[in-house]
Amino acid sequence: MPTIPNPQRALAILRQTFGYPEFRPPQDEVIGTLLAGRDALVLMPTGGGKSLCYQIPAIAHAGTGVVISPLIALMEDQVNALRQAGVAAAALNSAQPMAAGRDIEDSLLAGELDLLYIAPERLLQERTLDLLARCRINLFAIDEAHCVSQWGHDFRPEYLQLRVLHERFPQVPRIALTATADLPTRQEIIQRLGLEEARVFLRSFDRPNIRYRIDAGNQGSRAQLLRFIRESHDREAGIVYCLSRKKVEETALWLQGEGIDALPYHAGLSAVERSRNQGRFQQEEGVVMVATIAFGMGIDKPNVRFVAHLNLPKSVEAYYQETGRAGRDGLAADAWMHYGLQDVIQLRQMITQSDADPARKALESQKLDAMLGLCESTGCRRQALLAYFGEQLAEPCGNCDNCLHPPATWDASTAAQKALSAIHRTGQRFGVQYLVDVLLGKDDPRIRGFGHDRVSVFGIGGELSANDWRALFRHLLLRGLVDVDPEGHGGLRLTAAARPVLRGSEKLTLRRNEAVPKRAREKGAV
Ligand code: ADP
Ligand code: ZN
Repeated sequence: MPTIPNPQRALAILRQTFGYPEFRPPQDEVIGTLLAGRDALVLMPTGGGKSLCYQIPAIAHAGTGVVISPLIALMEDQVNALRQAGVAAAALNSAQPMAAGRDIEDSLLAGELDLLYIAPERLLQERTLDLLARCRINLFAIDEAHCVSQWGHDFRPEYLQLRVLHERFPQVPRIALTATADLPTRQEIIQRLGLEEARVFLRSFDRPNIRYRIDAGNQGSRAQLLRFIRESHDREAGIVYCLSRKKVEETALWLQGEGIDALPYHAGLSAVERSRNQGRFQQEEGVVMVATIAFGMGIDKPNVRFVAHLNLPKSVEAYYQETGRAGRDGLAADAWMHYGLQDVIQLRQMITQSDADPARKALESQKLDAMLGLCESTGCRRQALLAYFGEQLAEPCGNCDNCLHPPATWDASTAAQKALSAIHRTGQRFGVQYLVDVLLGKDDPRIRGFGHDRVSVFGIGGELSANDWRALFRHLLLRGLVDVDPEGHGGLRLTAAARPVLRGSEKLTLRRNEAVPKRAREKGAV
């Protein structure tokens, strides 16, 4: 190993090259770890300042830092910005002409590069690995490290092979970075990349300047979006996420018709159009990008004032990452979501109808449940969101919809007791429809056949409609008071969490979703 550069050198680079006066914690500690030759795993929210954690040690040390990044567009932005700052940086990817690639390889071999960005598939070519073996590499940075997680929404199979770096270059320190920090993903990154020895840096995921707001309802989401933009974000930059390309196109057109400077972005557009729209969003003020989730990773626009969701994200991680693109400058920003129960149905269907194996489906459906749990929570959104990432916020934030306008709720304790008893008395093997029929005392041959017209819960649920009962069962599922028998046919079972509610020692308070029409609720419930 070369001698360790003086830590003052890192600070000098921060000031002279990047023009920032001080490190943001834990940047200096991460840099020190790498300079001392140790591995690091950095979990920091988007906008936290992850890039400098590897850029500075790569510059400070003799040799070249190799950065593995999954997105070519992002790579090029970073390289351009670094060059402007006078750093010798280059990118190798499959999209560039042969000759350009050769020039870069030459400067790499000559030891002229501080930083080399490279796409994983290119890195993993035997040729490239041989090339690197002939150079002086001072670190490997694995950006967007959650792409190694097979359960995550950004899984990239090539990331699984990045272990070879450890095997082929055991003496080169590695740093893995991600903005996805839930515990299973963290463990998967450590295990799959062989980072057991790495120092882990976890920074708070709280984004206090973002105001979270989640509304449910099946109608008028477009009109509400327009009102939200006009009233709160007139002529400000924002991103509107939609689930499908079609909805992206329709929404962008419609907003344009309403006089909003909106542009579409999705993977179905030509590369030219995508990069033109992205360029306008990035450089101009006040462009609203209507996009699928194809848009976003690596967007570095500090003054995005709002992120709106017209559909439900698949998971809390996705929601956090997407909303995290708002307010990177630290000024007030909005995360606004309006979803309908149709979204729930659609996402559930996408899970059940996918070709994934049962374990993966179960996990995806658990993730969706957690997202729905966040949507239906009546307490502080920020507390719920951070709790998902294993972080505790002592007090309600005072800056989310539920804190600012406590939602209408109803005490569902008694109804929940009836529903739970119905599950218990019928032997914990029937589905929602059957249970609702029992509660409502329906005259049904199946119920009579099982003798369930004689159990104490038969017909005790007249105070609620069938729809309300279904909604209640959905809540019970979401809150984990009941689960679905994995081998049966949708039969509900009680979990340990049901006991305090059954005994009456714990109250159950539910959000009143008046905006949801009854018929949609009927289709969407459970
Ligand atoms: P991440 O990769 O974590 O999303 P970036 O590395 O892109 O974040 O940094 C986000 C923004 O913060 C960038 O504009 C970057 O220049 C800025 N930044 C990073 N570190 C510092 C610092 N120490 N002082 C001031 N600004 C910083
Ligand atoms: Zn709050």
